[in-house]
Amino acid sequence: MADKLIIGNWKMNTRRDSGKALIDALSASDITNQPWVGVAVPTVYLAQAAECLKGSRIALSSQDVSRFDKDGAFTGEVSAAMLKDAGCAYALVGHSERRQYFAEGNDALLSKMRHAIAAGVTPVLCVGETLEEREAGRYLDVVFSQLAILSELTAGDYVIAYEPVWAIGTGKVASLEQIAEIHSAIKNWCLQNAKASDKIRVLYGGSVKAENAESILATENVDGALVGGASLDADSFRMICQAAGKLI
Ligand code: PEP
Repeated sequence: MADKLIIGNWKMNTRRDSGKALIDALSASDITNQPWVGVAVPTVYLAQAAECLKGSRIALSSQDVSRFDKDGAFTGEVSAAMLKDAGCAYALVGHSERRQYFAEGNDALLSKMRHAIAAGVTPVLCVGETLEEREAGRYLDVVFSQLAILSELTAGDYVIAYEPVWAIGTGKVASLEQIAEIHSAIKNWCLQNAKASDKIRVLYGGSVKAENAESILATENVDGALVGGASLDADSFRMICQAAGKLI
């Protein structure tokens, strides 16, 4: 089985001290020798995190990237080239909270994907349906319409994270059957419609915890996890990474 990719999404949490303590605790644990692990840190702390991660195999990720690529008059924006310069290996793109609170749609997200890839930062495109869409049986159409931007990309390395909105931060986890169904559908869609390689990685996100990580990560076509709340606790995140390590 290929290495699992586990990315912790800290969202708008931590301060200088608590973020440093979290990274120090992860770096001191055995997870750096196991699966690929990343932490998506608030933008203002990326430079500090890069410094703390020196000599570690834990990768740095941003939580977003600008849809603009040229330097200039875009107040408040952080470009893909800046993220690369700050040491980011990954950038989250289109997290459901960005779609919900910042009205990010396919046009902006396509630009973000393009700029990240061009700068050498691997984008992690987040897709997923709301509870209403799931209950109406429209979840595949919704996810495919979010994936549609991938057919516009000529090539490049990217990761997909399937995150049902109803499972994010709610404690509700999709069943293993639901996860298996949609991960397989996403991979098939990519093979048919995007110039994705057959090695494309699809992560699962939505209330992944130490207790459920192993069964989720062992599910067919699950290549890792995007972890929110549980990534803020070093022990929980370490146990999730260890669960992934057991499956290699
Ligand atoms: C997320 O924010 O990407 C996420 C999956 O959050 P949580 O693990 O808290 O559900």
